Amino acid sequence: MLEIKNLTVSVLNKIILKDFNLIINENEIHALMGLNGSGKSTICKVLMGDPNYKVESGYIYYKGKNLLELDTTYRARMGLYLVNQTPLEIEGVKNSEMLRLALEAQTGKSVNIFEFSKLMNNICEKIKVDKSFIHRGINENMSGGERKKNELMHLWVLEPDLILLDEIDSGVDIDNLNTISESLKEYFDTHSCSFLIITHHTNILKKLNPNYVHIIDNGKIIETGDYSLAETIENNGFNRANKVRKNLNHE
Ligand code: ADP
Ligand code: MG
Repeated sequence: MLEIKNLTVSVLNKIILKDFNLIINENEIHALMGLNGSGKSTICKVLMGDPNYKVESGYIYYKGKNLLELDTTYRARMGLYLVNQTPLEIEGVKNSEMLRLALEAQTGKSVNIFEFSKLMNNICEKIKVDKSFIHRGINENMSGGERKKNELMHLWVLEPDLILLDEIDSGVDIDNLNTISESLKEYFDTHSCSFLIITHHTNILKKLNPNYVHIIDNGKIIETGDYSLAETIENNGFNRANKVRKNLNHE
């Protein structure tokens, strides 16, 4: 589904990702963990085609197409979706208006208002947000946690195939975090899709049970394991985890 090969990316002439490799197949959940500034968000930005990030070398194939040749709108239409680490506030543009237009652009058909309203109401119940969310400005005056749930609402409407979740759990209280995790699990179980979950914690991973957990350091994946690697990181931190691993290797 996605193949990132020897990707080197710079921002303002500084190399951020160096020979980065990652393959994500259909129906897989990958987690990506790493220190602040290691390049996690950069991968998401590059995948979405943010012009601030310059691809120096390497390639990205998505559903058999050279992703780097496609503009952001086309990438989104091909089912690529990013929940930003800090979802932007778009003043004056209502969720309902944007989502209805996006659906129409995606399907090429006009959306039946009655059906659409039913869909939106169902989603609000599913993710436990007030129905007023439907007509609110995109992330406008929303708390950090509410913004993440609002992005989740978009996910359920647009039904993308490859979902990049950049710290969807940061700044979210435990109750809302449980709702988000359960909703993501339900989405994964009912769609043919894949997730790349960027996180510092195991909470969301515990529910979603990733196939792979990758550790990124200085713009490169330095280790890949299963869920237990995420637990080691959470319990020991990256530096201590490194030491523990080195000692184990010497035994
Ligand atoms: P992470 O998400 O792992 O915390 P990022 O990918 O956001 O890290 O950033 C990696 C490095 O690239 C950091 O040193 C950050 O300051 C730098 N960086 C990222 N985006 C930009 C940008 N738009 N302008 C300048 N520097 C950036
Ligand atoms: Mg980040």
